[in-house]
Amino acid sequence: MKEAISTKILCISFAVFLFVSSETSVKSMAFKLFDAHCHLQDQRVLEKAPQLIETAVGAGVVYMAVDGITEKDWHLVQEMSEGYESVIPNFGLHPWFVEGRSPSWFDTLKQLFEANPSAAVGEIGLDKSSLAKGVDFGQQVEVFKKQLQLAKELKRPASVHCLEAFPELLQIMKEMGHFPSGVILHSFNGAAEVVPQLTKLGSYFSFSGHLIPLQEDEARKIVKAVPLDRILLETDSPDAMPTNPIYFVPGNATLNQPANVQSILIYVASLLEMNTEELAEISYNNTVRVFSFRGSKIASKP
Ligand SMILES: [Zn+2]
Repeated sequence: MKEAISTKILCISFAVFLFVSSETSVKSMAFKLFDAHCHLQDQRVLEKAPQLIETAVGAGVVYMAVDGITEKDWHLVQEMSEGYESVIPNFGLHPWFVEGRSPSWFDTLKQLFEANPSAAVGEIGLDKSSLAKGVDFGQQVEVFKKQLQLAKELKRPASVHCLEAFPELLQIMKEMGHFPSGVILHSFNGAAEVVPQLTKLGSYFSFSGHLIPLQEDEARKIVKAVPLDRILLETDSPDAMPTNPIYFVPGNATLNQPANVQSILIYVASLLEMNTEELAEISYNNTVRVFSFRGSKIASKP
């Protein structure tokens, strides 16, 4: 009996050792990462943003794209970008908030892009899921088209939220033609079947913690359908906490942060049966390529 207990204790300590050591080795990963989409301006984490940025940088996250979602938070994204070299600003009106827009929203947005050559477009999109219940789809389309067209004219990438509206998205993108500066399908979990057409139009596919709750076979099918040179990784933090988090926001363990892009890397690499280091390099280079538009903080680097 005693022996059984001590064996049990030994097993538990070994498991704890394995867990801790694997965590340590993950934390000390030497390669570079890029969080292609997050919301550090979100009120739930805004005050802690300096600390979360520091943690991310320490975890190898060289850049994080911070996406505004309404006119009310664009100035916060701008300020954060001015304070941190690692923050790539993105301005956009998210589909959930289109009905609250002011009459001058589009002029304000255009002025912001003029004043911030390092800013990309996002988060914009189309949502027919229950999450956007009650938001008029006609207005979503109108607002989305304007912003996507603007991204094309400015030759900057656009970060797109698309839920249950892929036929409409494809139609709109086809009408506008190819997007040489890239369209980032953020938190992509669309069907594998839409990937080839979207790729042809210039899309990139960004995976987040939203992928993890899917059946593993389904998630693998989606990830494997994406050409390797179009794969990006993101946290969508403070939402989409992965089920395998490595970092926790102090005071609220349910909130996600950019450093957890490591968790997404590990999961996507396992789906692709690929070494994490190799996927880190591929996804980092892809994201740098997309965000190296003229005027970008990345492009201005020697
Ligand atoms: Zn988002």
